Amino acid sequence: MKIGVLGAGQLGRMLALHGFPLGMRFRFFDPTAKGPANDLAEQHAEDYRSAGALKSFAQGLDAVTYEFENVPVESARLLAECVPHVFPPPEALEASQDRFAEKTLFNSLGIPTAPFCCVENVDALRGAVEQFGLPAILKTRRMGYDGKGQFVIRNESHIDEAFRELGGRNLILEGFVDFDRELSILAARNRSGQTVFYPLVENVHEGGILRVARAPAPNLTPAMQPHAEELATRVLNALNYDGVLAIELFEKHGNLVANEMACRVHNSGHWTIEGAETSQFENHLRAGLDYPLGSAHALGYTVMLNLIGTVPVVRDILSVKGAHLHLYNKAPKPGRKLGHITVVGENPEEREVRLQELMEVMGQEISNRS
Ligand code: AMP
Repeated sequence: MKIGVLGAGQLGRMLALHGFPLGMRFRFFDPTAKGPANDLAEQHAEDYRSAGALKSFAQGLDAVTYEFENVPVESARLLAECVPHVFPPPEALEASQDRFAEKTLFNSLGIPTAPFCCVENVDALRGAVEQFGLPAILKTRRMGYDGKGQFVIRNESHIDEAFRELGGRNLILEGFVDFDRELSILAARNRSGQTVFYPLVENVHEGGILRVARAPAPNLTPAMQPHAEELATRVLNALNYDGVLAIELFEKHGNLVANEMACRVHNSGHWTIEGAETSQFENHLRAGLDYPLGSAHALGYTVMLNLIGTVPVVRDILSVKGAHLHLYNKAPKPGRKLGHITVVGENPEEREVRLQELMEVMGQEISNRS
């Protein structure tokens, strides 16, 4: 089986690393000359919108998937005409790329979100702020990630500035969810409809970027996991989905509110490499090729720590018992995800001890919330 991947970042790199044992080979497509996946397989470094380049990329591939969410949907559709299968469905990609379409889909399936509306001019923004109250979050409908493309309006005097700063077009205003914490649910569904769910993950962000993920999330009520699975099932079925789907959720007073979804493997699922019976990467590939899915069962109490901006001393990290280091071969730059570390504890207490040890050897601290 030869799989084409749109994007050659760390997600593509880890997809390849988990597809190789199943006998798969890979080809990447990414306009960036040398992505982290580049040292594992051939890469077509061309524009995502070049039909000729996409057609030549498609030659001989059995399936195509994406590891980057802002791939043009038209390119995914074009590839669907050239290769036997593209997964997840381009319709899912399309819905996930536009915050308005995404939240409209959630609500149509009875999945709660923050109140939201499109704002095309400052007067509409003022009206929406009046309706939702402050604080409220103004976001670009498209291309936002890691907290980019958004402005928290705390005061009416910020309205003009927020509108200007985000470009004044294609914006969405969201009511502010005063959440207790952030969670995510990852699911995999294959083409035959078999579905597995990973345990809910608790995500701590710093400066809008995921810093720490704990799985299973601590202190879950018994109802929370089945409830999150039920919400994810609605999305999977509505989109006739195959592949891994991640839904980011806010927990507030024991209720779940959906924020956004990713139609690909997800940073909050990196823990599954060592912490679950089958990794999200392997299950994504199994799902798209309609193989039986592997168990998503957690093997212990896992913490995943993202390495952002700088790479620590490898020897220091490996001195912590049970630490698994994953470096992505990216040049250091502030705010850039350069790798991650995973430790699986036998119980929640051991998980915290190991995390503390990691922070100490790196000389860093973690704030509890961004
Ligand atoms: P997003 O780009 O939508 O994932 O947002 C990035 C981060 O901003 C989230 O992980 C939350 O911490 C915060 N955030 C986004 N939307 C809201 C909201 N409606 N209410 C409160 N916090 C939010």
